[in-house]
Amino acid sequence: MSPKRKTGTGKAKAKRKDFRRIATEEAFSTPEQMDAMRDVLAKQTQYHPDLFLWRVQTNPNGPVNKALLDLEGERMKIMDRDGVDMHLLSLTSTGVQMMEAGRALEVAIAANDRLAAAIQRHPARFTGLATVPPQDVPAAIKEAERAISKLRLNGLIINSHTNGEYLSDRKYWPLLEAIAGLRAALYIHPRAPIPAMAEAYRPDHLEHAIWGYQAETGLHALRLITSGVFDAFPNLKIVLGHMGEALPYWLYRLDYMWCTASIKFEDRVTLKKKPSEYFKQNFAITTSGMNWHPVLKFCIEAVGADNVMWAIDYPYQTSPEAVKFMNSAPISDADKHKIFHKNAERIFRIKPE
Ligand code: MN
Repeated sequence: MSPKRKTGTGKAKAKRKDFRRIATEEAFSTPEQMDAMRDVLAKQTQYHPDLFLWRVQTNPNGPVNKALLDLEGERMKIMDRDGVDMHLLSLTSTGVQMMEAGRALEVAIAANDRLAAAIQRHPARFTGLATVPPQDVPAAIKEAERAISKLRLNGLIINSHTNGEYLSDRKYWPLLEAIAGLRAALYIHPRAPIPAMAEAYRPDHLEHAIWGYQAETGLHALRLITSGVFDAFPNLKIVLGHMGEALPYWLYRLDYMWCTASIKFEDRVTLKKKPSEYFKQNFAITTSGMNWHPVLKFCIEAVGADNVMWAIDYPYQTSPEAVKFMNSAPISDADKHKIFHKNAERIFRIKPE
């Protein structure tokens, strides 16, 4: 019998070997985004939930400003410490979507260039999602093409609504068509609800990440399904954080109410498939900010282990908790490999090790 060996730092190293860990919803910012959001804030006249958060984010002495602007300092130390191989980076919510269209394009181009440069410096540690300005659809299409074809970024991110509008609106379909044509996945990340919805969430500030983000983003995703977008662009791949923004839990009832319920709506689009089929075929979900094993097990059963990816949501949620959550998940090692890295490699075209 060999004597019990002391663990300590050796343990962390051994853990690092067992799974490649790619975190898929990791936020960063740029000086250009911070400056533009300071200008948006300067014009603010009344309470706005997204700007409430931006007032914190733009504060150099606040809790997240430095962490968002940092790529190669503290962030990488934390990745090393926790055995996280890679961050799939994305410009933090609300991206460029609260800026005037011209400024939004400039900030998006600068962010995508900075992202590509960081990936070039650290190809084993960083990958990233491109930002585009939905306010200007032709410019967004052009930048999506540049970011995917020229900069080789790994997909795109849009932070739910733009000026109160969802991507299910026909005016955004050319952008969705272009994204599908590029075979790039589109991450729909949360922001606070559209004004019409936010009002009902205002008491007790439920319009924030506690409930409003999920209600907003889940509705946005559902509107994509019920608008027929996926019949028009069957290759379109959407990624949702937070274990699918509650939609997996609701799939049975969506199918029942859409297909079986006796009340008929004359003005409704006719879909080729059941809502749940689009969710299983056109969506993937991540574990961002939802470090809870019962929901993980349920989602694997509901949408399949091939459609679930691991995420931290750094720096808004902590890296050690997300790592521990997935390390200790009561699932097979095969599924853990899929969720920690294999699905991200496939969906975001990340080179396998
Ligand atoms: Mn996030």
